[in-house]
Amino acid sequence: MARPRGEINVVCQNPRCRYYLKVKGKDIIKSGRYRTGHQRYYCKHCKTCFMETEGTPLYRKRLSEDEIINICKHLVDKNWMRSIERITGHHRDTIGRLLEDMAEHAKNR
Ligand SMILES: [Zn+2]
Repeated sequence: MARPRGEINVVCQNPRCRYYLKVKGKDIIKSGRYRTGHQRYYCKHCKTCFMETEGTPLYRKRLSEDEIINICKHLVDKNWMRSIERITGHHRDTIGRLLEDMAEHAKNR
């Protein structure tokens, strides 16, 4: 076992983040998986989720438009939903349906 458990070899994918594409594993934790099977990461510094292959040619090649829309939906994590819920006063299920409608609209464009 040369590799320690939980080693993270990705960099933050958020252009506005201080550690954007700079420091491997800096303030980054694993945060489950997308439905597509890609590992999801979370940058504690900029509080943004991103996937392992984002920003690489693989990301552009492998994903269909449908999958991208799907991921957009997953990017809406629970905490984010709760803040929208708090701000707008709408239940998160309502917001969730709206986002789904928007994704559907983008797909049919
Ligand atoms: Zn970041």
